[in-house]
Amino acid sequence: MNQFVPLAQADLGEVERERLLSVFDSGRLALGPEVRRFEESFAKAVGSRFAVAVNSGTSGLHLAVRALGIGSGDEVITSPFSFVASANCLLFEGARPVFVDIEADGFNIDPAKIAQKIGSRTKGILPVHVFGEAARMSEIAAIAKVNDLAILEDACESIMAYGDGYKVGQLGAAAVYGFYPNKQITTGEGGMITTDDESIYDACLSMRNQGRATDMQWLTHVRLGYNYRMSELTAALGVGQIERIDQILRQRREAALRYFDLLEGVEGVRLPIKWAAPGHSWFVFPVRIEPEKRDGVLSRLNEAGVESKAYFSPCIHLQEFYMRDFGYQEGDFPEAELRSRETLILPFFTKISAEQQQYVADSLRGAMRCS
Ligand SMILES: *Cc1c(COP(=O)(O)O)cnc(C)c1O
Repeated sequence: MNQFVPLAQADLGEVERERLLSVFDSGRLALGPEVRRFEESFAKAVGSRFAVAVNSGTSGLHLAVRALGIGSGDEVITSPFSFVASANCLLFEGARPVFVDIEADGFNIDPAKIAQKIGSRTKGILPVHVFGEAARMSEIAAIAKVNDLAILEDACESIMAYGDGYKVGQLGAAAVYGFYPNKQITTGEGGMITTDDESIYDACLSMRNQGRATDMQWLTHVRLGYNYRMSELTAALGVGQIERIDQILRQRREAALRYFDLLEGVEGVRLPIKWAAPGHSWFVFPVRIEPEKRDGVLSRLNEAGVESKAYFSPCIHLQEFYMRDFGYQEGDFPEAELRSRETLILPFFTKISAEQQQYVADSLRGAMRCS
C-alpha cells in the first residue's frame, strides 16, 4: 500500500500555539515586545551579542551585505553549491560573487581553493554552512585575516552547528539564519542576523525599518532602508521554537541515526557518515547515488509517495542568468557539479516516525534494485 511521506514538515507545538494566541489577543501585531523577546532568546541560544529579526533569510543576507559595506564592483568569495539566495544577496548590491569549488568529499567550500581567487577587488568571504554541516571556519578565518577580508556566514541551514573548535556564527562579522518551514526551526517566513559588532547591529536595525534612526523617530530617515520587519505573530512562533530548540535538534539527530541503521548496506547508496559527529545540526538527510541512476531513483521514490528532491540542482553558477551574465559554464566547478548530480534528499523532519522512515528505506532499496 502506498503511503505519502513529505520531504519536510514543520514541528509546531502547544508552546507556539499559546504564544501565538497571546499575541493575537493582545492586538499588538507589529513593532512590539515579541520580536525583541525572540531576538534576545535567539542571541542567547547561539551565543552572539546581538540579533536582528527580519522577514526572511534572504532579507537578512541583504542587510548584512550592506552593513559590511560590500557594494558595486566588490568581489566576494562564496560557494556555487548552495541555495541561490547566498549569491543573489551580492547581486542586489552590485557586488560580484566569485565562486570557489567545494571539498572533494563534502558539500562545503574548500578553504584550500580560496587563496588563488583573492584579488585586488576582493572584499569578503561568504561561506555557506550547507545541510547542517559547519564549513571549515578556522581555515577560512585565517585566510580572511591575512587578506583583511570580512566574513559573512550563511548559517540558514545550520543553526547551532559547530566544527573545528568553533560554533557557526562565531568567527564571522555577521551570520544569517532562516526560518522557512523546512528549516530546523520555523516561523513560516523569517530570518535573523547575528553579530557581536554594535555598529553592524545598529545598521541592520535601522535598515530593516525604513532607515530610521535608532531612536526610531517615525518620520526621520537617516539612510536608505527597507521594510524587512518581522511581525509580532511571527516572532511568537520563533520564541516558542527557541524554547524547544534542544529537544528539536535532539529528535532530528535521533531520526538521522535511525536512517543510518535502516540504510546501512543498501547497495549503491552512500550515507553522510561523518555527520554522526555531535557538531552536526540535522537539516536534511542527503544520500549519494551514481549520477546515471539518481534521477531514475528519484522518480521511483516520488511515485511511491516518498517525496524526495535533488539538492542543489543545478548549482548556482549553472542557473541560466548566472551563465548569461558571468559566462560560467559546465565544468567550472567539478566537485559542486558532481555533488549536484549525485545527491538525493530523503524525507526528513523533526517528527518523522520510525514507520515512515522504514517505508522510505524499503522504497529506496526497491528503487535501487530496479535501476
Ligand atoms: C533557506 C536558505 C536561505 C534563506 O531563505 P529564505 O527563504 O529567504 O528564508 C539562504 N541561504 C540558504 C543556504 C538557505 O538554505
